[in-house]
Amino acid sequence: CEPAQKPWQIGHSRSMSVEGPVAFSGKLSGKVAIITGAGSGIGRETALLFAHEGASVIIADKTISQAARTIDAVREFGGTGIAIGGDVSIAADVEKFVTEAEKNFGAVHIVFNNAGIMDDNDGDAITTSDEVIDRTLDINVKGVIYGCRYGIPAIRRAGGGSVINTASFVAFLGAATPQIAYTASKGAVLALTRELAVLHARENIRVNALCPGPIRTKLLMEFLNTEEKKQRRLVHIPMGRFGEASEIAKAALFLASSDSSFVTGTSLLVDGGITSAYVTPE
Ligand code: NAD
Repeated sequence: CEPAQKPWQIGHSRSMSVEGPVAFSGKLSGKVAIITGAGSGIGRETALLFAHEGASVIIADKTISQAARTIDAVREFGGTGIAIGGDVSIAADVEKFVTEAEKNFGAVHIVFNNAGIMDDNDGDAITTSDEVIDRTLDINVKGVIYGCRYGIPAIRRAGGGSVINTASFVAFLGAATPQIAYTASKGAVLALTRELAVLHARENIRVNALCPGPIRTKLLMEFLNTEEKKQRRLVHIPMGRFGEASEIAKAALFLASSDSSFVTGTSLLVDGGITSAYVTPE
């Protein structure tokens, strides 16, 4: 049953995992947002924040049980949305995210192409298998293109909106801890985002890339599974810590809302300063 007032109507509430009291102002009131990979990490936090801000959220994830957990959390505070299982590397699945969004909520205004993988066996150009390269590019690049293929016409039908494609700080820096397929995939996301931004700029459709630094989510923590591996990265981050998924969600909200109404084609880094650093503080 719905509470009398939703958190964003009350004005002050607590999000599920953002530290401290947070003011919700209904920035996405009346909007419909598709978020891929919303069963975990950055996608989940973003879905919760967007729903708190008044959006109806389509929680898309290949693991339906995780998507269901996110939608349960959304409904717990009176938010609106649906969970859909599907794989972003399969065009028909992504088309379904969009048709279900329009069927259930009448429109699509925001598409956050966030789902992505980092394969344990991704290494350098000499050792990385074709299988790892193909799977990484299928999900991280083709998945984003499919989100745009079906999402952009829907946003156009709605009269305009915002596409956010998740890239990464690794598209800006070389690392002696290589993940060649992942890095290539994120560079591709930056390039295709700029092109689509230019192409659709006069249709009231903004397209931006969101570039997280190292964030304390399942994806990264399973990869950096020893203290030594974590420290090897932390030394390069001026702020001396990993970011939180909720900190990326707030940047996604900026790109999704009219707060960023003159921002398109950008690559927004939210990285604790890592891409600006030569020598970090002791
Ligand atoms: P995560 O592993 O916590 O969550 C990713 C979600 O995507 C999972 O729920 C997973 O089931 C889903 N997913 C994976 N493959 C899918 C597919 N083919 N179809 C649909 N859903 C799929 O990861 P995260 O850290 O929240 O990462 C989200 C995005 O942020 C990814 O694109 C990742 O590359 C990017 N990113 C993460 C970091 C980081 O440090 N965590 C840094 C830069 C960029």
